[in-house]
Amino acid sequence: EKSLLWFRRDLRVFDHAALHYALKASQQVFCVFVFDTDILQPLLDAGLNADRRVEFIHASIIELERELRRLGGGLIVRHSAARHEIPRLAAQLGVDAVFSNHDYEPQAKQRDAEVASALAVDGRQWRSFKDHVIFERDEILTLANQPFSVFTPYKNAWMKRLAAADGAFFLKPYPIETHASHLAPPPTLSAAGIPSLAALGFEKTNLLDLKIAPGMSGAAALLEDFMPRIGQYGQTRDFPAIKGPSYLSVHLRFGTISIRTLARMAYQTLHQDAAATGAAVWLSELTWRDFYFMILHHHPHVAQRAFKPDYDAIQWESGAHADSLFRAWCNGRTGYPLVDAAMLQLNQSGYMHNRLRMVVASFLMKDLGIDWRWGEHYFSLKLNDFDLAANNGGWQWAASSGCDAQPYFRIFNPITQSEKFDADGKFIRRYLPQLAGLSNKHIHAPWLAPTNELGKAGIKLGENYPLPLVQHDEARKLTLQRYSVVKRVT
Ligand code: FAD
Repeated sequence: EKSLLWFRRDLRVFDHAALHYALKASQQVFCVFVFDTDILQPLLDAGLNADRRVEFIHASIIELERELRRLGGGLIVRHSAARHEIPRLAAQLGVDAVFSNHDYEPQAKQRDAEVASALAVDGRQWRSFKDHVIFERDEILTLANQPFSVFTPYKNAWMKRLAAADGAFFLKPYPIETHASHLAPPPTLSAAGIPSLAALGFEKTNLLDLKIAPGMSGAAALLEDFMPRIGQYGQTRDFPAIKGPSYLSVHLRFGTISIRTLARMAYQTLHQDAAATGAAVWLSELTWRDFYFMILHHHPHVAQRAFKPDYDAIQWESGAHADSLFRAWCNGRTGYPLVDAAMLQLNQSGYMHNRLRMVVASFLMKDLGIDWRWGEHYFSLKLNDFDLAANNGGWQWAASSGCDAQPYFRIFNPITQSEKFDADGKFIRRYLPQLAGLSNKHIHAPWLAPTNELGKAGIKLGENYPLPLVQHDEARKLTLQRYSVVKRVT
């Protein structure tokens, strides 16, 4: 038995379902990663040749290759269209099966189906496994055997299933070491090595300056940093100026750490009094991640349309006016400091704090009247941790069009959000130093500051910081009108 292990968004050599099963089933396991031109070419065509994610993957692949070699195997790296490359390579190597982990995104599912049927033509098997989530697809269902569309009962059922198995079974790592001797070094025909970032057509970004460490080692360092803080997560997670969250999302995105490792650490911490509450909140966030993968799997239409169809009737702003509002939002020039600072954080680092993702999403749709899909697309280009399932889930939650979304009449007030979650303006000052001289009272809404305070702080509204694009109270009224089409049909 010979097989080929295809790495995709699971760039690690430990606790890896497909790798585990491939090593168990076969005497010789070759490993491959494809820099997929079906994904990369559209970025290049759009002129986006500096992408932190590509650099992150590239660096993670270097580490992955080194670790596979250390275990006695190696990594074949290709740069072409994966849907053709995988069947071709499988034929060249004469393997019996290709092993991989489940992907839940519509396009990836289509690609995998294509690969599976191309393999079948030559009598080769396609074998795929659950790896990226704790529970997937139909594993958590309602009493009526339907997928959940409301989070809290889903989470309760998720926790119940975990507890029923005593947490041990579903959180168990998939061992690699036992059969690691089955790893096969790449045959000479494939010894082309790892192409440089430049050979892929991409430039270096500021990833290293940001101290975002890629690969398994980067993930392990973040986890080590986070675990002593997990107990405080519940209190700190909403404040963007505080180091509250784990910052592990990019690693979960590319699988440089396994979800089982994280869920297991959180689950074990549930029994440690001092840290239990924080661990429960964090585990709940990991459950949201499973939830949105499950939603995308069962309702792939959410990638284009509202989860709740009546929300497709909403008329969003359009034309040149909408374009200019959208550009101001993208560039952090709305005149609302917390919104602008958040967008600058995204543009400069590829990360945005969860509280701020909710604030800027709400602002785009419910203050500026712009279609959630525009914001979702912008995030997809910028976020290091961009993940179709979670991003779409987050946007449709804020748009009120999603499963279990916030009600449409709940509209974040960008000023009170700022006063509450960045009370002393620390986060704002980090990204908008031109506002640093304002008092904590007025930094959230500079246009309400007395003229002498603005003067002393060196701020000329409309010159070195924008006037607010809209007045929140008026925008709120317009939004309630805009959403009234939904009220009528629901
Ligand atoms: P932590 O607070 O440490 O959370 C741990 C992990 O739990 C995260 O890494 C993530 O995998 C998961 N998680 C946390 N919150 C959520 C959530 N609401 N939904 C799903 N998973 C969650 N997350 C992404 O991973 N990719 C995205 O593209 C993405 N887009 C978003 C868009 C919007 C509009 C909103 C409101 C949220 C989005 N999120 C997304 C969820 C969340 O903001 C990020 O997961 C989180 O900020 C990442 O930081 P962290 O790793 O420090 O999170």
